[in-house]
Amino acid sequence: MLSEDCGIFGVYNHSDSVSLTFLGLHSLQHRGQESLGVVYHNRNGFKQLKGMGLVNQFLKNIDLSRHRGRVAIGHTRYSTTGSSSSSNIQPLLINSYKGLIGVAHNGNLINAKMLKDNLRQKGAIFQTALDSEVILHLIAHSREKDLKKAIIASLKKIRGGFAFLFITEKGLCAARDPMGNRPLCLGKKGKSYIVSSEDSALKIVQAHSIREIQPGEIVFLEDDRITSAFFTTAIQKAHCIFELIYFARPDSTLFGLPVNQFREECGKQLARDSSLQADVVIAVPDSGNYAALGFSRESGIPFEMGLVRNHYIGRTFIQAKQLVRENDARLKLMPVENILKNKKVVIVDDSIVRGTTSRKIVKILREARVKEVHFRIASPPYLHPCYYGIDTPDENEFIAHRMDISGIRKFLQVDSLHYLSMNGLKQVLGERKNDFCFACFNGRYPQKVKIKLKKEILE
Ligand code: 5GP
Ligand code: SF4
Ligand code: MG
Repeated sequence: MLSEDCGIFGVYNHSDSVSLTFLGLHSLQHRGQESLGVVYHNRNGFKQLKGMGLVNQFLKNIDLSRHRGRVAIGHTRYSTTGSSSSSNIQPLLINSYKGLIGVAHNGNLINAKMLKDNLRQKGAIFQTALDSEVILHLIAHSREKDLKKAIIASLKKIRGGFAFLFITEKGLCAARDPMGNRPLCLGKKGKSYIVSSEDSALKIVQAHSIREIQPGEIVFLEDDRITSAFFTTAIQKAHCIFELIYFARPDSTLFGLPVNQFREECGKQLARDSSLQADVVIAVPDSGNYAALGFSRESGIPFEMGLVRNHYIGRTFIQAKQLVRENDARLKLMPVENILKNKKVVIVDDSIVRGTTSRKIVKILREARVKEVHFRIASPPYLHPCYYGIDTPDENEFIAHRMDISGIRKFLQVDSLHYLSMNGLKQVLGERKNDFCFACFNGRYPQKVKIKLKKEILE
């Protein structure tokens, strides 16, 4: 498995901005469960609330009535860069001579190391292991005295995938990388503005979506109004296809596409590309649900819920894992034997990365005495590391990097195995296909700097 990327959420001009931000983070919890933080300000200055773990656990010890302000930003994190220690919890807050600035960042800056080295030579002292801290130093070091101009000048210097929320003494500002690689959308609730990684999180605060922040766009929310500018003209869309395949919540619309429909279409395409005779289609819940439904609708093979998910694993997972060492997937997934026994089963998942979980799931199906297992994957083989938004293991850990399809089939111990092809995936996207990054599947990195990148990041 990979790591989730992060979720960011901000509220401008609402008396309950702190509570609304926590609600938003709760709704973005699927994007990171490791730590969370909120920075807000009121007449008494800037305040930060940070902790490890899940939003609802964190809130048990917080009296929200004591945290009021009209502007807030928040972040829920799964480490992409920097270890998981508490000094790396976002949003980060600094006090520069241009004023106090807080930042929440989703993504990876691919030239962070070079920028960091330069800044260190000029005397910058970094407090965290996060590449997100680079942008704050760039802003603080910028010759532009005006904060807005300093932010724009700094955004021009960074490369990679990013969605940023800044909180300043004047308000909030939101920016998205020129590829539109990471998602970011704008919503409205009465006279308040909301910015969120996914539009599905707007619903929980009863806001409605206005639009996505555009690639290369920066939006300023100040003086009770919204203004917008582009910090570059070099826009080349490369939205992260993995957001649609796995990361995002199915009730979000991302890059203009409803996530559930996209996943269902991938399942349909997969069924067209790899038809077979079978008794039942099941999903690996929850990530494979919509693709499995699509596969069933297209193939005519009935969809059943043959695996039940246990939702109560939480933080105890690591301890519990030791108790069932030989197959810890059983902690999360239970087979429904009367659906599976003596059946030819098609099992659909969104992706295979390492292959270890998938193998354990197949074992669970075998124990439920299925007759045959046919694995279908609603995305192409995962072959290359990601440098833009998410943390990926060494490429040697990707099963598709080490084995060919027949090797993977044997490893998983399945009767047949099919991945959605690159062509199939592009067919699903139709005329939108040129707007996406597929680098983890085809090695074609937008910004075309793979080798240099690798060195810079791994050094
Ligand atoms: P694998 O077979 O590679 O061990 O695990 C595949 C499963 O991992 C799939 O169900 C897929 O939904 C899930 N997965 C894919 N990418 C990620 C990720 O970035 N984070 C987590 N937690 N799971 C992922
Ligand atoms: Fe997304 Fe893959 Fe591109 Fe990374 S390499 S941004 S995971 S599509
Ligand atoms: Mg999954």
